[in-house]
Amino acid sequence: MRAVLVGEPGTVKVADVPEPRLLDPLDAVVQVTAAAICGADLFPLHGMTPGFDNATVLGHEFVGTVAEVGASVLGLRAGQRVVCSSTVSDGTCGHCRASRPAQCERRSLFGYSGVYPRLDGGQAELVRVPMADRCLLPLPDMMGDEQALFLADILPTGFAAVRNSGADLSDAQGTGCRSAAGPRPGHRVRGRSPLRARLQAGRWPDVRARTHPPVQHR
Ligand SMILES: [Zn+2]
Repeated sequence: MRAVLVGEPGTVKVADVPEPRLLDPLDAVVQVTAAAICGADLFPLHGMTPGFDNATVLGHEFVGTVAEVGASVLGLRAGQRVVCSSTVSDGTCGHCRASRPAQCERRSLFGYSGVYPRLDGGQAELVRVPMADRCLLPLPDMMGDEQALFLADILPTGFAAVRNSGADLSDAQGTGCRSAAGPRPGHRVRGRSPLRARLQAGRWPDVRARTHPPVQHR
């Protein structure tokens, strides 16, 4: 199948790679119909991800159709349209039980290796999804692929950033992922980052950005 990989330094390439297959009874294989490009892709692209394996298929935001499910997958069937969460979590460790699945002791991120265990991503024709019942959310017919893509990472990240800032969710329009939380006239936008350069890189002309210490998770 065809997939997107990191090529020469600073470039990506489309290459032929082996098709994924079920490796665990909890796995599913998804035929990708839409995938997004994220700023997180820039770190391996620019060689800033220690230990990154350039054979890793990029992409942690994707939508598709279930092609195959493992014997222990309970809530999914072939042919269902699904969106996939960007990270994998086991649902059983202390972090997961405390509603912090992104900090799961067995976490991995689609499209990454090195800093996480390698897990091929969704900028490909097919992708293997571990713990499929947790990672894949069936989609209603009324929701298009491009709408559903926002559920993989962008919208929940922006939502969590606003919630963690202590802002009134009915007022603030977003922070961490502004592509999902674009400002509207009359709305406030809060930027939270310990790095002033990062805030300034993403600021709009009418947005006041200020540095803020990292959120302390309870
Ligand atoms: Zn966990």
